[in-house]
Order: sequence, then C-alpha cells, then structure tokens
Amino acid sequence: MKYTIALAGNPNSGKTTLFNQLTGARAHVGNWPGVTVEKKEGSILRSDNLNLIDLPGIYSLSPYTLEEVIARNYLLKERPDVIINIVDATNLERNLYLTTQIVETGIPTVIACNMIDLVNQAGDYLNSKALSAHFGAPVVEISALRGDGLDELVSAVKEAASSRRESHYVLHLSKEVEAEIKQVEKELETTSSDKLHGMPRRWWAQKLLEQDEKALEEIPLSSEQKARIDALEEKLDDDVQSVISTARFKSIAAIMDSIYTCKNPHRLSLSDRIDKIVTNRILALPIFVLVMFLVYYLSISTIGTLGTDYVNDVVVGEWAQGGVEALLTNLGASDWIIGLTVDGVIGGVGAVLGFLPQMAVLFLLLSILELSGYMARIAFILDRIFRKFGLSGKSFIPMLIGTGCSVPGIMASRTIEQEADRRMTAITTSFVPCGAKLPIIAFIAGALFSGAWWFAPICYFVGVAAVIVSGIVLKKTRGFAGDPAPFVMELPEYRLPTFKGVLLSVWERSFAFVKKAGTIILLSSIVLWFLQAYGVTSQGIVAVEDAGDSILAVIGGAIAWLFIPLGFGDWQSTVATFTGLIAKENVMSTFAIVFGVQGDVLELIEAGEWSSLAAITQHYTMSSAFSFLLFQLLCAPCFAAIGAMHRELGNAKWTLFAVAYQTAFAYSFSLIYYQFALLFSGNPFTPVSAVAIVVLLAWFYLLFRKKPIEQGKLQVESV
Ligand code: GDP
Repeated sequence: MKYTIALAGNPNSGKTTLFNQLTGARAHVGNWPGVTVEKKEGSILRSDNLNLIDLPGIYSLSPYTLEEVIARNYLLKERPDVIINIVDATNLERNLYLTTQIVETGIPTVIACNMIDLVNQAGDYLNSKALSAHFGAPVVEISALRGDGLDELVSAVKEAASSRRESHYVLHLSKEVEAEIKQVEKELETTSSDKLHGMPRRWWAQKLLEQDEKALEEIPLSSEQKARIDALEEKLDDDVQSVISTARFKSIAAIMDSIYTCKNPHRLSLSDRIDKIVTNRILALPIFVLVMFLVYYLSISTIGTLGTDYVNDVVVGEWAQGGVEALLTNLGASDWIIGLTVDGVIGGVGAVLGFLPQMAVLFLLLSILELSGYMARIAFILDRIFRKFGLSGKSFIPMLIGTGCSVPGIMASRTIEQEADRRMTAITTSFVPCGAKLPIIAFIAGALFSGAWWFAPICYFVGVAAVIVSGIVLKKTRGFAGDPAPFVMELPEYRLPTFKGVLLSVWERSFAFVKKAGTIILLSSIVLWFLQAYGVTSQGIVAVEDAGDSILAVIGGAIAWLFIPLGFGDWQSTVATFTGLIAKENVMSTFAIVFGVQGDVLELIEAGEWSSLAAITQHYTMSSAFSFLLFQLLCAPCFAAIGAMHRELGNAKWTLFAVAYQTAFAYSFSLIYYQFALLFSGNPFTPVSAVAIVVLLAWFYLLFRKKPIEQGKLQVESV
C-alpha cells in the first residue's frame, strides 16, 4: 500500500533540507494547480511506499495568504495519510502555533523537532516526551542538516500510517465558546460526510464560529447560527477568531516551561547579537548598501561579466558561430542554412546562454543571502518604504540587478513569497534601464543633447518613476491586490548556508532559465532572423542585401504610422524597435545597417565620433530622439527578459498582460512627452495634442483613484 505523506512547517524550519534528505533531492517539481507556488513531490528513500509532498511554508492554517490556502485545501481535500510537522526546536513557541492547528485536522501527525543539533550545542533541553503527551502525537528529534534522527522519523511515519492513530488534542476554550462549539458540532451531525471532507466536526465548528471565509464557502451559516455568534461575540467583547487564536498562544506558553529548558535564559543568541548590528537603526542601511554593492560588483561588474563576455565573444562568437559557419561552408551548405544556423539559432540562443555565467554568480550570492537569513533582514529594512508604492522590501534586489541585465533581475523576483508582489516586481523590473540600453542613451545624449551630464541620470529616474507609478496603479487592480498576512514577519535565525543547499538552488534556477527562456528565444529569433534577412520580390521570397528590402522593413513601413504621434513614424525606427526585442543592443546596430553607417557603431559611440553617426542624427530632432529613447526604455524588454517574465509569472496570460502593459505604458508616455514638446516649442494645438492630454489625465486618474478593492481580502480562488 502506498501512503501519501505531507510535509508542513513554518518557513525556515528546515523543510527544504528535510525534504531533500528524505527524498535524496530527487523531486518532481511542478506548481500547485492554478498558481505559481512551487510544488515538490518525491519518494522517501528509506522506504518504498511513502510519497512525500512538500506543502508551502506557513505560519498557520488560516485563509490569509496564498500559501496557507494551498496547504489548507490540500489537507482538506486530499487528506494525506500522515503529516510530518517539522518544527524549529530553537524557536518552539512560534512554531507550535501551527502544530496546534495541524493536529486538529484529525490526520495522523508526526512532529519532527528539527535543529536539535543547535539545541544540544546551546546546552538546552527539549522534553520530547512531554511534548508528545501534550499533542497526543509522536515526536522525533532530528537534525535535517546533519541527517540525524531520520531513520527514527521514517519509522514513526510508517507506524502512524499503518495504525492511523489520530491525535486527540483539544484546544481548551472558555465555557461560553465551548458551549457554542458543542452546539454547532451537533448541528453538523446532519451534514453529509462528503461536505466535511473527513475533517472532524469540531474542526468545522471552530472554523464556522471564526467565520472563516473558506469554511463558510463550503458550509454557510444559518441566520440563526449567525445571530448566536453575534451574541457570543458581543458577550466576549471580541471576535471568536481572536479569542481562539489567543487561546492557542496561551496554551503553548503554558507548556513551554515543561517542554523546554534553556541553559542560560538571558543569553543573547548569536542571531540577536548579529542583528544588533545589522538591523541597527544607523548601521542597517550602510551595511545593506555595502552588501548590495558586493553582490552587484561580483555578479554584474566583475566575475559574472567576465564569464558572460567570454561566453558571448569566445564560446558563442568564435567557437560556435565561427566553427559552425566554417563547417557548414565546407559542407557546401546553402547561404540560408548558414544564415539561419549561425545568426538565427546560435546568435539568438547564444544571447541567452551568454547570460548564464552572470546569472549563476548572482544566484549563488543570492542563495547565500537567502539561506543565511540576511534576505529577510533586507526585506525588513526596506519594506516600509517599498510598501508605499505597492512593492515588497524584496523588490529592491531584482531592480538593482536589473540595472545590469533584466533577465537575472526578473529571475531574482523568485525570492518574493507573496504572489502579487512577485508578479509586480517581475513586470516592473525591466523599466530600470539595463546595460544593453546604455548605448542608446549614450548615443542620444552625445549626438543630440551635446553630452549633457544630466541625461543618463534622467533615464534612470524615468525607469524608477515608471516602477513607482506602475506599483501604485497596478496595486489598485484585482490581480495585484492582496495585503500582507496579518502576521508580523519574524526574522529567522542566521544560519550558515550549506554548500549543497546553495548549489542545489543555483542549479535549479539556472537550469529552469535555460530551459524555458531558451525555447521562447529560439523560436522568436528564428522568426525575426528570417523576416530581417529575406524580402519578397518578383522572384519570390529571396535573401536581400539591403535591409530596406526585407520583409521586416515592409512590416515596419506598414505599421510605422502607429509611431507618428510619437515623433518617429518611419520604418527605420520601427525596425530597430523590433530587432530590439531580440536584444536591446540590436537597436543601435540596426540603425547602423539601415542608415548605412560605416564602422562599428558601438565603438563610434564609445569614442564619441558623432560626425560619423550624422546619418542617424539627422533623422531625428531632439524631441523625437528623446521620445524614441523613452519608448525603448519602457517598452517590452528583449525576448530573454520576456522568457524570464514568463517563468516567474507562470502562464501565457500574465506574460501577455505584462508585455501589453509595458508597451502601452511606453506608448502613453512617449506620446505625452512628444506632444507636449511640440506644443511647448510653439506648434499649433492638434487633435493628437488633445489625445495626449486625455491619456495624461487617464494616468492621473489611475494614479490617484481610490483603491476599489476591499482591504485585507485576498483574491485567491480555491485550488
Ligand atoms: P525552509 O525555509 O523551511 O525550507 O528551510 P531550509 O531547509 O531552507 O533551512 C533553513 C536554514 O536552516 C538553512 O540554512 C539550513 O541549512 C538550516 N538548517 C536546516 N536544518 C537544520 C538543522 O537541523 N540544523 C542546523 N544547524 N541548521 C539547519
């Protein structure tokens, strides 16, 4: 007989470590239905009939956060045979809150007290027998990190699965509440067992008294029951939910002395001592800036970039492209096969793989920050500021990294647990100008704005402003609403990350990136390459010498009118915008081709040889050039970044929304800018100026309107 075992516990209790130990890190990774929260499943190694499901890290089983809803629905609807409730033994009082709720589900539970090595190290004492007696469930002391106690854990799980012994733990409540629970329990006797999903009647009674949203969706209260609850709450002068939650905390506090003995109760833990410095009011920010500088320096400026340049120039450029071109030429392949393979496939896919060294270094540093517990402090330090415009404290890291490259930036949003925040960050990160957009900025600043010093900072400011405006605007819409759980985030203890843990996390992320972004890139690069290299002539579809004859130029010409109100309604700018989708570096190199610039355009820009670039410059005015730049800064990022967004957003619908939103945002603000620039330079008022004013007012409305969605309600569909 095969048993299903669910692993539940607080974030940072060591769940991932235990899961990897028990399954040998061989997990099937997917998503929970309908959401992008990761779901891991694997077989327990020491046994052939135990299947382990990792539930999201949660602090309670209330229906406030997506993670809680997922865990709860799973326990309710799937009824695993056993729950392993992992608790951090060094932080028992907080962890046992969830335990009080887990044992109430009536599902046989084994409590795994993790980090026992730290307990022993501190000279403390955990009385497992007393703990087990209190909850009526077996308790096993383990150290997931060292692999201690795992055999005992697996035997206890097997025993629990075959004996199906439930805990008879009952949370003691005041007489009035108890009487009402009994009453509702009795009334539930007529409810079919299907509706109860195997949960004990007492559980339902408690949830209904708490007026728990998700429970009420399944079993609504009668008006008479509702009146009784209202009367009870009146009498208690509090709602039942807080009464029960307080009772849980008190029940744990009452047993703490008998289950845990601290050798030195006044000792400040190492974490507390580190936090005295790291989250100190004065030092917190400088330390944070230093850490971020290091992360940025190592991944974007030095080691990561060295690797990326090497892969781009040598591995992709010389070996792969050079080698394959020579090989295909020798084999006598036709030009189009060579072009497609070398420029289309290797060029496009190489552009993605080139990011890999940068990303691997970055993921390495981030996973160290994450596993050590510092990431939680960053979120803590920045949260209050970022919350104001709808982002989380953790959004900072993706944005900072995004200044180097949006791809790893977007992928770094993985570390944000709250789905709405993660989504928001993934969608807005590419507004921050990435390294590939710098040549466009440098060119327009140098050639059209006589190298004004304020030009580049303005571009970064535009990016940050776009993030803030989007944060405020989107947070008021349904998909991004959702307030933080009514739990104050507690800072986890600092821990030394393990080598294996870090490597595993780097591997998982890098591999996922290559796989997913790689497929999108491959396809879109092939299509764009074809459109750019071929034209339709009287002889049919043939390779063209002059970029102006390509299919892309024809398409560009056909839709260029769309950009007339923005000041750059010509095929050249349109085509450059499209090739920018492959990589933003392409914008300037496309210009070089379509305007017939001699020499390496990037080198010319670097050397400030503006006269050699006059063919491009003459094409624009200051206003149309800046409008073009605004559009490039804000519109959909390159395919690699879109691929990364797709991975973080989890489905095509959200990815399409992101791309459409970014492009609409770019279009609106280029339009507003260009039309106002025309008016201010003395041009007459036209219908398009009126449209620009309406668009501006519409953004003002979106920005300042009241939040239409009720606070505190999470929009989560039942899974
Ligand atoms: P999760 O958030 O619950 O998945 O927790 P993780 O498995 O990522 O563990 C959080 C941190 O605790 C990591 O740095 C682990 O290395 C560390 N850790 C996990 N189990 C133990 C343990 O038994 N002893 C010690 N000392 N550290 C542990």
